[in-house]
Amino acid sequence: MDPHQFHWSAGQKCAVSLTYDDGLPVHYEYVGPALLEAGLHGTFNVLIRSDPLQHPEYWRKLAQSGHELANHTLFHPCRRNPDMTWLEECYDLCEYTPERLRAELQIANLILYLLDGKRERTFGNTCCDTTIGRGQQEMLMDVVLRKLFVAARGPGNSQIADVKKGINLMQVGHFSADKQNMGLEDIQKTILRAAEIGGWAVFMIHGVGKGTHSLYMDKSTHEKLVAWLAVNKADIWTAPFIEVAQYVKQHGGCK
Ligand SMILES: [Zn+2]
Repeated sequence: MDPHQFHWSAGQKCAVSLTYDDGLPVHYEYVGPALLEAGLHGTFNVLIRSDPLQHPEYWRKLAQSGHELANHTLFHPCRRNPDMTWLEECYDLCEYTPERLRAELQIANLILYLLDGKRERTFGNTCCDTTIGRGQQEMLMDVVLRKLFVAARGPGNSQIADVKKGINLMQVGHFSADKQNMGLEDIQKTILRAAEIGGWAVFMIHGVGKGTHSLYMDKSTHEKLVAWLAVNKADIWTAPFIEVAQYVKQHGGCK
């Protein structure tokens, strides 16, 4: 299939995926229900060792309402630098081997399967990191990810996924949409740009509302964004990351 011929279903001009990271209580307490009320669904990149350990039943309910639970690892390993005091040294991705990453992701997938019964899964890269190992040993995670996932939300490169040129589903670029990085207008402008090129805009959000995470979107911004996406449904297809990835795969939008 020729990616140039790619088009979204039902005449929509672009796709948008809202992805929420780190397994926070605000995701099931507020975000999931707010999206549903607007007739939209989102992706929740669940960090297993945070809230889901205490409240698996809430995460199950979130999945049952049609939202996607995606893999955000068991322990949130990242390429560690000395400023990252929140991350124990033993979870430094620079020290991970492909075997160790694979094992961690497989167990996280199993736990998510026990929550939502799904076998197909996507990955939300922790800290937007796309490699493991150090120095000469540094390598792309793709080799591990390809066997486990439909797609991965990879680098935080602030780029629209240009499906008409063909994208790598293991490294889907995205925007960090927490208030520290973008306001409502920036987000809307990005989506309108995606509509111009027929692309897919993926946004990473952590908390919603002050106090829910050190990185967060204001509740009022979130409310306005969700309402705007709902009103513009005819032009903008807002859907979970996995749904859009599967569509792109089936319609020739990937390399
Ligand atoms: Zn995270």
